[in-house]
Amino acid sequence: MNENTDIVVIGASPAGVMAARNAALQGASVVLLERKEDVGHPPHPANTFFKFMMDRSCEPILDEYVLNRLRGMKIISPGGIAIEIETPGYYIDRQRFDRHYKDELLKAGVDVQTGMEALSVMRAGSQFKVSTSDGILIPKLVIAADGIESKTAARVGLKTTRYPGDIAWAMEAEVRAPGIGEPDMFEYYIGNHSPGWKSTYSPAGGDLATLGVYVRRHGRDVSAFFDRWLEMFARMKGYDIDDIEIIATYTGGDPIATVPHQLVADGFMVAGGAAGQSGIGYGMRAGQICGEVAAAAVAEGDVSVRRLREYVKRWRGEFASEYWMGRMGLELVRKMTNEEIDTVVSVFAGRALSSLKGTPLVQAAKVGLFIARHKPAALWAYRALLRRK
Ligand SMILES: Cc1cc2nc3c(=O)[nH]c(=O)nc-3n(C[C@H](O)[C@H](O)[C@H](O)COP(=O)(O)OP(=O)(O)OC[C@H]3O[C@@H](n4cnc5c(N)ncnc54)[C@H](O)[C@@H]3O)c2cc1C
Repeated sequence: MNENTDIVVIGASPAGVMAARNAALQGASVVLLERKEDVGHPPHPANTFFKFMMDRSCEPILDEYVLNRLRGMKIISPGGIAIEIETPGYYIDRQRFDRHYKDELLKAGVDVQTGMEALSVMRAGSQFKVSTSDGILIPKLVIAADGIESKTAARVGLKTTRYPGDIAWAMEAEVRAPGIGEPDMFEYYIGNHSPGWKSTYSPAGGDLATLGVYVRRHGRDVSAFFDRWLEMFARMKGYDIDDIEIIATYTGGDPIATVPHQLVADGFMVAGGAAGQSGIGYGMRAGQICGEVAAAAVAEGDVSVRRLREYVKRWRGEFASEYWMGRMGLELVRKMTNEEIDTVVSVFAGRALSSLKGTPLVQAAKVGLFIARHKPAALWAYRALLRRK
C-alpha cells in the first residue's frame, strides 16, 4: 500500500467506486479502503434502478448483472388507485454489479484494499492521517464515501445533511412464491401503512421478488411495518402467507429525504449516502464529479476548500433541486391522510404522464397545472404540507 498516495477513498459504495475510478483515470494515485471482505461481499440490499437514473452517470447497463428488465413502475394509493409510469427499470444481481465495478477499479489502477477499515481520520498539518486496521496512510486528500452510518465527515466537523434525523429506515426481504417474480412493473405503495415513504414489491422474475418498507420518523426498527406489509401483500395478491418463503432479510437506512449540505473541507470531500446523496445512479454521478475534481485539485497542488467547492457547485447544478423536490414530495406523503393521497393519485390514474418531463421544478409546476386543469379541488390536499406533524 502506498502510504503517501494522492487520494484515499473510504468505502466502496457506488459513489466511492466512481470517485476512485475517475480520479485514477485522471492520473491520481488512489487507495480505496473497504472494510468488507470484498467489494460487494456481503452484498448491499440496493438492487434495483431505473434507466433514467443510471443515465445520469452515463454508465452502460450490462446484461452480465441484470436479472430482470421491467417496463416501469406503478404508484398505488391506499385505496388501490394506481398510476402507471412506463420507464425502463432493472432488478440486478448486486454482487455481479459490484464485481464489474471492482474490475473497472483495477483496470484504472486503483489500489483496492479490502478487509481494511479506516479507523480514524485526523489532520496532520496540511494533510490527513488515515489510521487503518493495517497501518497509516498520509494522503493529500480524503474522500469519505462510507455510507449512511459514516462518522468520518462528522469527525472533520462537517454537517453533511440538512435533516440528518430524517433517514428512511428500511426492511427488505427476498422472497420466493409461485409466480411472484412475473409481473413486469415495480409496485410502490404509499400511505399510512408505511409512513413517510413507501412499501415496495420488486419482481425479480419467475418465483423470486423483494418486498420492503421504508419508513420515516418511527425509529430504526421497522419490522412491525414490514410484518403488516407482508400480510397486506399476501391478501392483496391472493397468496396464503405461509406460501411466501422468506429467503433473506436486510435492514438499513436510506437518506433520500435528508438533503445534502456540507460536502467539502480543506483536503476532504464526502460523497454518496454519507452526504445524503441517495440512489445508486445518483450516487455514482456524484462520485464521478467528486473524483474528477479531486484529481484536478491534487494535480494543481491546491486541495483547499475553495478549490474543492467546484464539486459542490457542479453537484448542485445537476441535482440539488431534485433532492429538494424529492424531500417536499415525501413530506407531503408523510403528512397527508390516506384519503388525501387517494384524492391526489386519482387525478393521475389512467392518464399518460409522458408530458410531465423536464427539470424537477418544471415537473412540479406541470403536476400543479395538471391537477388544476383536471381536478382543482384536489389541490386542497396540498394544505397537508402546512400541517405540524
Ligand atoms: C434496504 C435498502 C434498499 C435499498 N434499495 C435501493 C435500490 O434498490 N436502489 C437504489 O438506488 N437505492 C437503494 N437504496 C438506497 C441506497 O442505500 C443508496 O442509494 C446507495 O446504494 C448506498 O450507497 P451509500 O453511499 O450509502 O454507501 P454503501 O453502499 O452503504 O457503502 C458504504 C461502504 O463503505 C464501507 N465502509 C463504511 N465504513 C468504512 C470504514 N470505516 N472503512 C472502510 N470501509 C467502510 C462499507 O462497508 C460499505 O461497503 C436502498 C437502501 C436500503 C437501506
